Amino acid sequence: MKALVYAAPSRVEVRDVPEPQPRDHAAKVRMRYCGVCGTDIAIHAGKHPRAKAPLVIGHEFVGVIEEVRGGTRGFKPGDRVVAYPLLSCGVCLPCRTGTPHVCEKLKLIGIDCDGGMAGFAWVDEDVLFKVDDALSDRIAALIEPLAVIVRSLHQSRYQVRDSAVIIGAGPIGLLTAIALRRSGASRIVISDVDEARLGMCHTLGYETVNGKNGGLVNFVNEATKGEGMDVVFECSGVESAALEVTKLARVGGTICMTGIHKAPRPVDLREINFKEQTLVGSRVYTKREFEQTVSYAAQIRDDLEHVVTQVVPLTKSAGIFDMIADPAINTLKVLVDCTA
Ligand SMILES: [Zn+2]
Ligand SMILES: [Zn+2]
Repeated sequence: MKALVYAAPSRVEVRDVPEPQPRDHAAKVRMRYCGVCGTDIAIHAGKHPRAKAPLVIGHEFVGVIEEVRGGTRGFKPGDRVVAYPLLSCGVCLPCRTGTPHVCEKLKLIGIDCDGGMAGFAWVDEDVLFKVDDALSDRIAALIEPLAVIVRSLHQSRYQVRDSAVIIGAGPIGLLTAIALRRSGASRIVISDVDEARLGMCHTLGYETVNGKNGGLVNFVNEATKGEGMDVVFECSGVESAALEVTKLARVGGTICMTGIHKAPRPVDLREINFKEQTLVGSRVYTKREFEQTVSYAAQIRDDLEHVVTQVVPLTKSAGIFDMIADPAINTLKVLVDCTA
């Protein structure tokens, strides 16, 4: 079968790879679409600490079941499914105490073992979820990143009518904005330094700010008469954002770290003290949240239509990361069409 394989730093190749072997208590999933994630970009760059070549990448996939071995969960050929891609060790303290999504040895399908940018994969039945018929394949491929947002909304203790500022207008930032609007936020401000991304958010009806040179802090100060916003979602992973978050949140407000920072950052901890702010981490999602997201995606599917900006056939996907890196091509969420 064809697969997109991480071959070496800065090189992915479309290869013919041996078909995965059948497993018990698993289903053969014929892939339809698989999303490209920031993690995949890090793998391609050779900067992911765990990913080892050769590796079939992709953890945001939707497909159709062709065969089931086991059948204890009632799946049958023809069912359209997405997969909870987390692999937890089961023995560490977080695993033993009900939080396996923050397992000390957390692994993911498509990072630590072969993933979804391929013709098919055998996936354990207990991580599969059936997709609502009303959801298109393209939107179903967004369930995994949307689950990240469901987690971070829970972690942020966001409450209906809270105001929110989102740093970073990439796929995660935009999905956060969509989820907040659908959840009754009183005001949503989204910032980036990429004018094309800001333009897209503006078109979708969000308040946008160019965050260059402290522009976001100035904007929020003016807009709130210096009071700050209820919740800050840091979705950029950029160093300068870490120093701004405490200036954006109100006294008693929450700062949720949705985006992953790859290095230690300076943060103004004095402001956390003086303003009694809560700085909270968020990592992937629980299985319960993933399950909730499957139906949530169907409920908000009209808004999700705008997130996918490019679809690339699997057989022509060797240059997909060059396309994403090309500033002349405005990409937001890119999907691989595994059927073409
Ligand atoms: Zn992802
Ligand atoms: Zn564990």
